Amino acid sequence: ITPSTKVPAVVGADLRVPLVTGERVTYANLDHAASAPCLQEVRDAVDELLPWYASVHRGAGFASQVSTRVYEQARDRVRKFVGARSSDAVVFTRNTTDALNLLARSVPKGTAVVLFDSEHHAALLPWRGPNVQRISTSSRKSDTASGAASLVVALDRALAAAPVGPRLVIVTGASNVTGELWPVKELAKVARSHGARIALDAAQLAPHRPIDARDLGVDYLAFSGHKIYAPFGAGVLVGRSDWLQQAQPYLVGGGATSKVTDHGDRLGVAWSAVPERHEAGSPNVVGVHALAAACETLSRHWEQTVAHEQELLQRLREGLRTIPGFRELSILNDADRVGVVSFTVSGFDAGFLAAALSAEYGIGVRDGAFCAHVIVGRLVKKVGGHEERAVRASIGLGTTAEHVDRLVAALRALVTEGPKWTYTQRDGRWVA
Ligand code: PMP
Repeated sequence: ITPSTKVPAVVGADLRVPLVTGERVTYANLDHAASAPCLQEVRDAVDELLPWYASVHRGAGFASQVSTRVYEQARDRVRKFVGARSSDAVVFTRNTTDALNLLARSVPKGTAVVLFDSEHHAALLPWRGPNVQRISTSSRKSDTASGAASLVVALDRALAAAPVGPRLVIVTGASNVTGELWPVKELAKVARSHGARIALDAAQLAPHRPIDARDLGVDYLAFSGHKIYAPFGAGVLVGRSDWLQQAQPYLVGGGATSKVTDHGDRLGVAWSAVPERHEAGSPNVVGVHALAAACETLSRHWEQTVAHEQELLQRLREGLRTIPGFRELSILNDADRVGVVSFTVSGFDAGFLAAALSAEYGIGVRDGAFCAHVIVGRLVKKVGGHEERAVRASIGLGTTAEHVDRLVAALRALVTEGPKWTYTQRDGRWVA
């Protein structure tokens, strides 16, 4: 059976990888949530730009003019992709982590920050200290009734207790651990009712669902090019410009300054306005162009993309549920999901399973705590596991039904018949 819909092609779909036996098989990349393969259309866009790329904002030559235009147009392409306000700043960064750190450095002093403990480290760690309230996603009374609704209630309660002054809520669009979709619109409504701004970590949402920032009511959002089928190196922070404009530049250097003057014992520096204020150094025009191209390709194919992923996700979950000892991790009990499934198999180490899936079956999954140690530790315990580790299979545009079926069959064979090879642990990793 093949998925009934046609989706944009990715590069490397026919990649062949060696097994431990020396045989080669097509690679089953079930690790889209870490980094997605490059879209063919993105590769074409990059190829087209490569002869022209030159210094952005700094050269008078024709190639510099082309690069500058491409770079500046990318802001509008991103704005369109996420339904941002025309007044929103679009600041290019290295990735989501960089974008969220920039936001954390830009909030007014004393801002009360509220977030959930299920966040990825990129959204969790920049916000620590006395002004930060972390809402536990495990101690909700209505756990069995309505998971998503209880998040909204918990946020309402946390904000009611927050000190007066500027307030900011951080939420994820989709969990990188469970793929569960957060009720962003409802959370944003609650945030607004308490005079708080809300920032969306869209790293896992942007590849899988259309985003309309105005409709959702979010003030900021961040995502990474490499998770939306563009190569590494470019990410973005989109959102209200006032705090960003009042903040000290994130990095200092060329581009972030409009004028530097020598006063003998000191330098006088006039900082640039947003977005250049936070983009010191030569910008990554190729990465940004690739990111913008990915935005446009995704925008044209949402219906097929969502159908493709949901069909394969259902196939994956149904298959995995037939594996003895399989336990799926979930934070909520009523949320729709993007194509991410994290699980344990009782009696098996997650690292061993991941290593054997690669060595014997040519399947790429991820194991560990997925840069979300707090929540993974808790969820693994909740399903009876002891190690704070799980396996994560994540699907996207490069996934086929054969990949899904291969994973399910391979896991069943590993669990019921055992591995065909011997494995040892070296520096904490299993090797064949
Ligand atoms: N947030 C979420 C939900 C993520 O899944 C990730 C990447 N795993 C990040 C933030 C960080 O993204 P990046 O590594 O591209 O900075």
